Amino acid sequence: MIKVAMFDTKPYDKTYFEKALPDNIKIKYFTAKLDENTYPLCKGFDVVCAFVNDDLNSEVISGLYDFGVMLIAMRCAGFNNVDVKSCYKKIHVVRVPSYSPEAVAEHAAAMLLTSARRIHKAYNRTRDFNFSLAGLEGFNLSGKTVGVVGTGKIGRAFISIMQGFKCNILAYDKFPSQIDGVTFTDMDTLLSKSDIISLHCPLTEENFHLIDKTAIDKMKKGVVILNTSRGALIDAEDLLVGIKDRKIGAACLDVYEEESDLFFEDKSGHILGDDVLARLLSMPNVIITSHQAFLTDEALSSIAQTTIKNITDFFDGKPLENEVCYRCEQFEDCKREKQKKCF
Ligand code: NAD
Repeated sequence: MIKVAMFDTKPYDKTYFEKALPDNIKIKYFTAKLDENTYPLCKGFDVVCAFVNDDLNSEVISGLYDFGVMLIAMRCAGFNNVDVKSCYKKIHVVRVPSYSPEAVAEHAAAMLLTSARRIHKAYNRTRDFNFSLAGLEGFNLSGKTVGVVGTGKIGRAFISIMQGFKCNILAYDKFPSQIDGVTFTDMDTLLSKSDIISLHCPLTEENFHLIDKTAIDKMKKGVVILNTSRGALIDAEDLLVGIKDRKIGAACLDVYEEESDLFFEDKSGHILGDDVLARLLSMPNVIITSHQAFLTDEALSSIAQTTIKNITDFFDGKPLENEVCYRCEQFEDCKREKQKKCF
């Protein structure tokens, strides 16, 4: 029996993993996040299954190794919260590189339509028998210019949806490619020409606060900004100033720079300590969802199935397609490229 300790478990994780579970794997579901205080719970387990806000730092990795944990199975694409260098030659790390780009792209489109047609305001009004239309004036998407930053799996899925609305598409990518009907351009042109800007690139050191005061100054008045990628791509304080100055027409955010202690949790009985988030939430033209874009039936099924396959492949001695290590793509003698295993 393969024993797995899952951390930061939510009810939907358990539902989808139990459906995908073969007889030879048993999962113990912990609601706690994994960090230096909780790693002793991993004693006696073969595998640790973690998520975006778990903290797998060097101390945690060393503790897991001492307990005999052989595999870290991330049930997400990102692994920036895993000290992969400390894992090298000790614990293998696998992830789910792609589960449903459409889930995230459709959520971005849903937020855009909600904002453009003031559905969030109308929903509250009609529930209160207020059938007035005053202040609900929206705009057509057809004919608008949409600037897409990052044209990977999710960016392309979003472009395809926006093309269905007859939008003109401008794109910026660090590694531009060829997409039918899309004009690749530089970031400054995208900022100055777009009516709607949607972020779909990963967060890296070089693009931290990609959208700050300087970038906002270059944008059209009334621009709509969408972020379903990572919070720190936007300087939230500069965004707030842009909204207060009426430069930014609307912001739709599924991610927020300081989300880790808030998002995914019910904080409704608490005093919100984050003044910037509180002010953003008070704006009629800001829509915030709490990192929800991945949360579809299809994506959750895919995450559970791929994670289980990653674990099964490891114990069956098969090539680990979804393994990552600190050497990935940086060293010429990359073992994963040649042997489908990092070490
Ligand atoms: P991907 O790797 O398929 O595509 C990323 C694209 O960004 C690539 O084309 C790459 O060349 C480009 N890129 C890299 N650095 C860039 C830069 N500095 N400037 C511009 N472009 C750059 O990734 P994906 O699957 O499309 O995911 C995109 C992002 O979506 C992820 O990094 C993640 O942060 C986010 N995401 C969010 C959710 C959610 O629930 N909100 C879920 C999954 C992924």
